[in-house]
Amino acid sequence: MNEARGKEEERAVPEAHLTELFSSFQGEGVHVGRRQIFVRFYGCHRNCDYCDTPGSVSARQGSGYRPVTFPVALAAVGDEMRRGTNPVTPHSLAHEIDRLDREAGPHHSVALTGGEPLLHDRFLGAFLPLLKVAGRVIYLETTGDLPARFEKVARWIDIAAIDIKLPGATGEVSRWEAHGDFLERAGASGAEIFVKAVAGAKSTLEELEKAAFVVAEVSPSIPFILQPLTPFEGRGEAPSPAQLSRWQARLSRILDDVRVIPQAHKAVGVR
Ligand code: SF4
Repeated sequence: MNEARGKEEERAVPEAHLTELFSSFQGEGVHVGRRQIFVRFYGCHRNCDYCDTPGSVSARQGSGYRPVTFPVALAAVGDEMRRGTNPVTPHSLAHEIDRLDREAGPHHSVALTGGEPLLHDRFLGAFLPLLKVAGRVIYLETTGDLPARFEKVARWIDIAAIDIKLPGATGEVSRWEAHGDFLERAGASGAEIFVKAVAGAKSTLEELEKAAFVVAEVSPSIPFILQPLTPFEGRGEAPSPAQLSRWQARLSRILDDVRVIPQAHKAVGVR
């Protein structure tokens, strides 16, 4: 790319593609039950075996695929209210969030989810200041393995739900070093943070303890949520009650606050 073209692209208004925008209850982690507006971005660099949003995962779509439209919905009752058009700009999305908040709110916060929202760091750099001006609380859900991208948007994040991906559940390789780096930066950012690890029947105590030590190196008081895997479309297998009981007890020897929290939204039939 020549220099002039590079500068022109830098100045262009950033855009993003969404797969969904909806109002619902947070179903995971320490803020379970809070009402949020969920912004689901298209695209993910991971391909977890248990993924329940395959429409947002690049590896499961054709090369070059981008969603053309996205539903704006009241997910709690399964209602699609209208369709939005991709790509969105920071201002068009902030406007749509204001509208959804008036129609379905009030909401505790805006959840950035996906896919992996940090793949859209340039878009977020223009979009998140607009949410801040509107007085919104910003809640990030992330794979927790893109530390340099997190750094670029950290100043706007109020709450970060940070995954540690366990190979026994994802079917992918571990990224311990990236998770450790991410947690260091998140811990220093001033945001409220907690860690979530999805564990299935094939998860091992060894990998769970490794995850706990990665967290403990930053701070043993970071809440650690052990989330039992929910099988999706025949993929993945839930852990047994005995496994969960053993893991929670063993991890509690490493960390101060280890909790077992299943996906609550699925228990009440909400997306
Ligand atoms: S990181 Fe999340 S969105 Fe990406 S593949 Fe895994 S579960 Fe799906």
